[in-house]
Amino acid sequence: MADLDVVVVGCGIVGASVAFALGQRNRDVTIVEKAHHSGHETSSRNSGVIHAGLYYPPGSLKAELCRLGRDMIYDFCANYGVPCEKTGKFIVANGPEEEAYLSWLLENAKPTPLYRVDQGPSGIRASAALFSPESGVVDQHALIDALLLQSGATVLLDQTVEGLAAISDGAEVRVSGDITTAKTVINCAGLQAATFVPGYQHAYAKGSYFSVRHPALKTLTSLVYPAIPKTSPSLGIHLVRTFSGEWYLGPDFQWVDSIDYGVDPTRAGEFARAAERFLPGLSEDDLQPGYAGIRPKLSKTENRDFLFLQEGGLIHCLGIDSPGLTAAMAIGEYVADLLIRD
Ligand SMILES: Cc1cc2nc3c(=O)[nH]c(=O)nc-3n(C[C@H](O)[C@H](O)[C@H](O)COP(=O)(O)OP(=O)(O)OC[C@H]3O[C@@H](n4cnc5c(N)ncnc54)[C@H](O)[C@@H]3O)c2cc1C
Repeated sequence: MADLDVVVVGCGIVGASVAFALGQRNRDVTIVEKAHHSGHETSSRNSGVIHAGLYYPPGSLKAELCRLGRDMIYDFCANYGVPCEKTGKFIVANGPEEEAYLSWLLENAKPTPLYRVDQGPSGIRASAALFSPESGVVDQHALIDALLLQSGATVLLDQTVEGLAAISDGAEVRVSGDITTAKTVINCAGLQAATFVPGYQHAYAKGSYFSVRHPALKTLTSLVYPAIPKTSPSLGIHLVRTFSGEWYLGPDFQWVDSIDYGVDPTRAGEFARAAERFLPGLSEDDLQPGYAGIRPKLSKTENRDFLFLQEGGLIHCLGIDSPGLTAAMAIGEYVADLLIRD
């Protein structure tokens, strides 16, 4: 007989959402987290944006789980008092090439609401613009805390999982040399998740942010994103707002070999040049180094979908890069359904 019912490895937004979905199904969940706090890694080192689901290939898990997860987060936040705001977002083009991307996006986004507007927000430069009313921002720490509370899960902090193995009636988890068995183990270890899966590897794509000041930000309430080609590995350097009212520009996209969250101040010029297209007059003196996050990527050459691998009582969540925050609650449902089918 297994020692435990379900063990979740990693207490980021995905681990917390999986625990919540299983708690709703009366499963007894234990989360093992190596850090001293939940949500300290990628889940709090991102744009904090609830994506509407405009960019992902139709029929992909990213497209489907993003749209489902978006609605689930808005509902959950309303029910449990988690700070979250449907700010809407402008996607701004400057010049014919970028305007062509807007046309592609209008087609790709269907059935998510997205429409052309006559002009971008005040003080933002745009030759053409779209508005997405379903986009927003969420307080990620508050969301993780609320999901954990409602899940009823036991959270073990400061415990590093060293090994995972499928066995005939479940799975084994090795922590500090001790082996525990569970009916099901779900690997939600984010950047480290692939280290438990032979034959798979995460490449790391770092994204840095700079805090920014600009006259347009005094009245701006919505997010502003550039128009980017559909082959771009990220959504481009955009403007996001925190709940404390600060504005940030980011993230950029840089392959790295190891996890280092430092922000290189010399990149300010590059950020200013990218954002000056829509923030007229912006210079590197208006930017201060902010924070950085790292995306777990399954390929360096193509944009891959989320990947869920099931091996008996072991389920691995791999390649959970953007829109992983938005999709997390739907990922929780998806994974919980895998247990039922098992
Ligand atoms: C720059 C950037 C911007 C982004 N912007 C957005 C956005 O605006 N909107 C959006 O929807 N998505 C965004 N994303 C994606 C989103 O942040 C991630 O998809 C999501 O946070 C992944 O959550 P996670 O729980 O899988 O990973 P994590 O938050 O990294 O959680 C994994 C947890 O596992 C723990 N762990 C790892 N190894 C072990 C081990 N051996 N034992 C125990 N615990 C372990 C870690 O400590 C960590 O707490 C962005 C990502 C980046 C990097």
